Amino acid sequence: GTAVDVTDLTVRFQSKRSSTTALDDVTMRVDAGEFISIVGPSGCGKSTLLKVVAGLVRPTTGSVSVHGEAVTGPQRNIGFAFQRAALLEWRGVRKNILLQAEMRGMDKARAAARADELIELTGLSGFEKALPHELSGGMQQRVALCRALLHEPPVLLMDEPFGALDALTREQLNAELNRIWRETGTTILLVTHSIAEAVFLGTRVEVMSPRPGRLMRTLEVDLPRERD
Ligand code: ADP
Ligand code: ADP
Repeated sequence: GTAVDVTDLTVRFQSKRSSTTALDDVTMRVDAGEFISIVGPSGCGKSTLLKVVAGLVRPTTGSVSVHGEAVTGPQRNIGFAFQRAALLEWRGVRKNILLQAEMRGMDKARAAARADELIELTGLSGFEKALPHELSGGMQQRVALCRALLHEPPVLLMDEPFGALDALTREQLNAELNRIWRETGTTILLVTHSIAEAVFLGTRVEVMSPRPGRLMRTLEVDLPRERD
């Protein structure tokens, strides 16, 4: 079925002095289980597009739905990971991941089991109690990824999640993300500046034009999805 449905979406940011059209008539359909990479120049509206899908920014015109439900506010069935991991400095790895459960009032036993599974899956075992400042940037992003996935959202949105990391760490995390995508069947929308990354990870690459953002071109990627 359709996981994300964006129809004729326009977003304008209005202030007293100016009006910015961030997105101009964007239509995009994403099937469940797809991995969509979104690329385009800085300021073309990539972040805004993800924020609208997450229910954090309202469409000026047009509509967005996730698994058939109109998005009218912050979405429960979505995970969101940003460029900065935004971890709580005084909480250890496991407790940072469980923050998601507290915010959503998840069942404690289920959240704990899921957290342990994700810690294992992302190679964070042994670091459960480590504080963020004791971790490398790559490990911090792994924690953020675990937190975004804790409630098993059918749709995961990622905005330049590994953008601040060195090339090697980034490559490792991309391989992990690929594995998570294959193993969980999560629908993923990833904003990235790297075309290579977009093509390696995505089943489809959406290229956006400079501001105001429009979908300019779609590249269907027909490559082996595994790299072992
Ligand atoms: P990208 O992620 O592609 O760099 P953004 O979606 O962040 O682009 O921004 C698109 C345009 O909208 C930019 O011109 C940006 O300055 C503007 N913009 C984004 N968020 C806001 C906001 N909350 N208020 C005003 N302008 C904004
Ligand atoms: P990123 O590119 O890392 O996703 P942001 O989404 O925070 O960064 O911001 C993207 C662009 O949108 C920036 O150019 C920023 O100046 C602009 N922007 C974000 N929020 C606002 C806002 N509240 N008002 C005006 N411009 C904004």
